[in-house]
Amino acid sequence: MMGSGGLIVMDEDNCMVDIAKFFLEFTVDESCGKCTPCRIGTKRMWEILDRITKGKGTVEDLDKLEELAYHVKGNSLCGLGQTAPNPVLSTLRCFRDEYLAHVVDKKCPAGVCKDLLSFEIEKDKCFGCGMCAKQCPAEAITVTDYTAPGKKKPAYSIDKNKCVKCGACIATCKFKAIIKK
Ligand code: SF4
Ligand code: SF4
Ligand code: SF4
Repeated sequence: MMGSGGLIVMDEDNCMVDIAKFFLEFTVDESCGKCTPCRIGTKRMWEILDRITKGKGTVEDLDKLEELAYHVKGNSLCGLGQTAPNPVLSTLRCFRDEYLAHVVDKKCPAGVCKDLLSFEIEKDKCFGCGMCAKQCPAEAITVTDYTAPGKKKPAYSIDKNKCVKCGACIATCKFKAIIKK
């Protein structure tokens, strides 16, 4: 339950950890600060979620997060603090596999958490049109000396150290040669 009178439809492109963090951020901002569980507990929960979305979380963090969520829920004075942990608890219950993918495999299955993503050009699909390189704001895409088999133009590749993971290249490539992993 997140408030009332609203319905949010999500699919496999929504990361449940990111969603839980998003809703918690709202309650962290809205907390009036009168009681400690809500004032401090929600912040600590947000910090754990932030670590997880950045690939720095551990399996133990999931237990800590759950324990803290029940403390905040059970000991906050008003409805805001009492319901703030709900998105965390329900996503942990129904989408624990997504949390585990973040902390164990260091992957975001939905492809949302930027720190866990990498962009690559599949050389056998690249036609060397150069459109992605023109759109890249970080100048991370360059021509390599590789020429794809059967193609006349050179293939391009992405410098992972320069890439800021904006996704503009994927949207640009009409040959679907760029993948997000
Ligand atoms: S639970 Fe209610 S009273 Fe307590 S800090 Fe949060 S908003 Fe304030
Ligand atoms: S837009 Fe696609 S086909 Fe064109 S250079 Fe980039 S990856 Fe290759
Ligand atoms: S994701 Fe953005 S920054 Fe990274 S290579 Fe593609 S366009 Fe450039």
